[in-house]
Parts: sequence; structure tokens; C-alpha cells
Amino acid sequence: MSINTNLNEIKKTIPNHVALIAVSKTKPISAVEAAYKAGQIEFGENKVQELADKYEKLPKDIKWHMIGHLQTNKVKYIAPFVHLIHGVDSFKLLQEINKRALQNNRTINCLLQIHIAEEETKFGLSSDEVKELLNSDDFKQLNNIMIVGLMGMATNTEDNDQVRKEFASLKCLFDELKKSQPQFEVLSMGMSGDYPIAIEEGSTMVRIGSAIFGERNYSVL
Ligand SMILES: *Cc1c(COP(=O)(O)O)cnc(C)c1O
Repeated sequence: MSINTNLNEIKKTIPNHVALIAVSKTKPISAVEAAYKAGQIEFGENKVQELADKYEKLPKDIKWHMIGHLQTNKVKYIAPFVHLIHGVDSFKLLQEINKRALQNNRTINCLLQIHIAEEETKFGLSSDEVKELLNSDDFKQLNNIMIVGLMGMATNTEDNDQVRKEFASLKCLFDELKKSQPQFEVLSMGMSGDYPIAIEEGSTMVRIGSAIFGERNYSVL
């Protein structure tokens, strides 16, 4: 199946209010170009170097999403152009993004990553941590970032009830926080294997890679 066909098939299953981010990590420039020609303009990458490299080489109206874990010392490379940073999970990282955004004379939109999966992972804030962060005075000093919502990844499991429960818990937290954060509008949840469930549970942005571009083959990199 071609990238074009895959994209069109997926778009048919996504309602208009849900944004589709095409996750092009590990895929060549030509794959991004094929999707771009098919009308896709929002792409996601999880490595700073690859993101900056693709930004350089591809049309400038592409909106680039940083979806992976971002190290503080690498923010400067994407600050001039990044459209949305999905995986923010510390105040230290927010401070750095704010600093680099200011240097570039812009405001950078961010999502806070929430840990919803049962699996152990290093990344993501708990619901208590996110509330503490949003309510802190230090956070309110950061004028060049805007937290526009939340991002989360469900457990990688065949158990759809488990996945649904995790997405529902994130949606619940999103709705609760939105009462005091009116600028919240993005709930980034859902990937190739679980995006239909994520949409049913209230996702407004899905991040889809392999279902568009085919399986990733890390061994040939
Ligand atoms: C790779 C990745 C995706 C896309 O995964 P697929 O299963 O290929 O759709 C989505 N979100 C994040 C954070 C990723 O790293």
C-alpha cells in the first residue's frame, strides 16, 4: 500500500475535530514528501537531530511536532521553528523552552505529558505533579510558552479495556484542568494501534506513524 492510500484510508476514520500528526521518525525525506503531496502538513518526530534535518530540507509550511522525550540541552535546535512540543514533563524543561522561545522572539506551544500507562516508564507527570506545576508561581513567570493541553501514551497491550481506561483517565484529567486553564484545547492521545479507542475517549490529536509509512526498521539505521 502506498503512503497516499494509507493516509486517505486513515483520514476516513478520523473526525474533522481530530488533528492527524503523521509520525515520520526513521523514515526518509522522500516519505515525508509523498505524504506532503497527498495534503498532509503536520508531521511528528522524536529525535531533535532528525527533526532539525528534515525541517531544513522540506517545505517551510510544514508544521513540525516534537513528540519524543526532549533533552534540555537540545531545545535550542528546534526552538526557532517547532510548532508544538508534546512531551514536556518537567519545570526545568519548560524553563529552557521559555528561554529559547524568548531568544527567538516567539511563544512555543507545549503539551504536558502525563503518565497514564501501567508500564513503568521514566516519562510523564502524575496528576498531582501536573496540578502542582500549573499552580506554581514559577510557572506563571514563563511568558513565552503556552501549555495548550496534555499528551499521553497508553500501555502497549492487546487488552483494549485497559487502553480505554487509561485514555479515559487522561480525558478526565484534561477536563478537570481545563476549568482553570481555558487555553487547553489539545488532548494528544492515540497511535497506529490504538487511535480509534483514543478518539472515542476524547482525543483531539492522534500521532500515527507505522499505519501511514509502514513498519519502522530500526536495524537498518
Ligand atoms: C513513534 C511514536 C508514535 C507513532 O507510533 P506508531 O505506532 O508507529 O503509530 C506516536 N507517538 C509517539 C510519542 C511516538 O514516539
